[in-house]
Amino acid sequence: MAPHGVLVVGSITADVTAFSTRLPRRGETVLGDDFTLVLGGKGANQAVAAARAGARTWLAGCVGRDPFRDIVLDGLRSHGVELGEVRTVEGRTGVAHIRVDASGENDIVITPLANADLSVEMVDESIRATRGEVGVMLLQLEVPVATTFHAAKAGAAAGLTVVLDPAPAQPLPADIWQYVDVITPNESEAAALTGVEVTDAASAEQAARWFLDRGVKHALITLGAAGAVSVTRERTRLFTAYEVTAVDTTAAGDAFTGSLGAALAAGAEMERAIRRGMAAGALATTRPGASPSLPGRADVDALIETRGESTETGGEGTGSTDTAMEGAAR
Ligand code: ADP
Repeated sequence: MAPHGVLVVGSITADVTAFSTRLPRRGETVLGDDFTLVLGGKGANQAVAAARAGARTWLAGCVGRDPFRDIVLDGLRSHGVELGEVRTVEGRTGVAHIRVDASGENDIVITPLANADLSVEMVDESIRATRGEVGVMLLQLEVPVATTFHAAKAGAAAGLTVVLDPAPAQPLPADIWQYVDVITPNESEAAALTGVEVTDAASAEQAARWFLDRGVKHALITLGAAGAVSVTRERTRLFTAYEVTAVDTTAAGDAFTGSLGAALAAGAEMERAIRRGMAAGALATTRPGASPSLPGRADVDALIETRGESTETGGEGTGSTDTAMEGAAR
């Protein structure tokens, strides 16, 4: 039987969030209305999303020796993420310092701290330790680029389906693309990496081709409430989003990628995996916060069951070839 698990290589932070009517001006102090301290980091969010989507999920990441460690480990444990590949290193757990105003506008300072210690050796150990258990590797860009690059290369060599969410966008080594099976940027990340301004499905397809030309097998450009564009050498398709009432779009992308990865690991066809990712992304926007907003498998099933067919716009797409879609799942 093919391995059904997911290995996430990425960041773990304590998300420290203050809510106030308005954000303070430079040098100003304002009184806040509320405060939360929860698990965060793109790696941790993707791991929670994959675990909640039903995949056995390991997270290769680093936390420090401090009180935030217990908070983030409790968060991961409570969502069912395997902790065997989380290392405790000297120093402090990474922190995202977030301020949110009444309109939902926010600003964020992320301090990587322990995340900077995630090394290529740790990644190799985690690939070895989970061999035979995982079929999909999920990557993002909040840990050192050299570590992410190595993970993609070693993951591909180990036969894993490598999914990269290039967020936050930053320059990457040109030879990483050959190791990436699926890339999942949003509009602004796609634009930052490719130089193509992504404003609609046609420009998303153009950006997607940039990745394909460099060796990525499948580019999935997510467009928020406008859905996602899926591009392989064989076929381009536009998937329209599930209609929901969004209250907070934080972590929609993490829900999308985590759920997509879990579905691919379970052996789903790419099209079905995309639909599950999109349903999870839509549901994540209906609840406030990041990791607390990530939906479970039953919620995704329910949304797809009621509205599944409405997401297929098949032939419309952006006018490209219409041959069978290449599946990145192995
Ligand atoms: P990111 O959070 O990385 O910017 P997106 O906002 O593009 O990612 O969201 C990822 C996916 O989640 C989208 O492709 C879409 O399917 C779904 N999604 C996001 N926002 C909404 C929304 N407002 N309504 C419905 N679906 C959404």
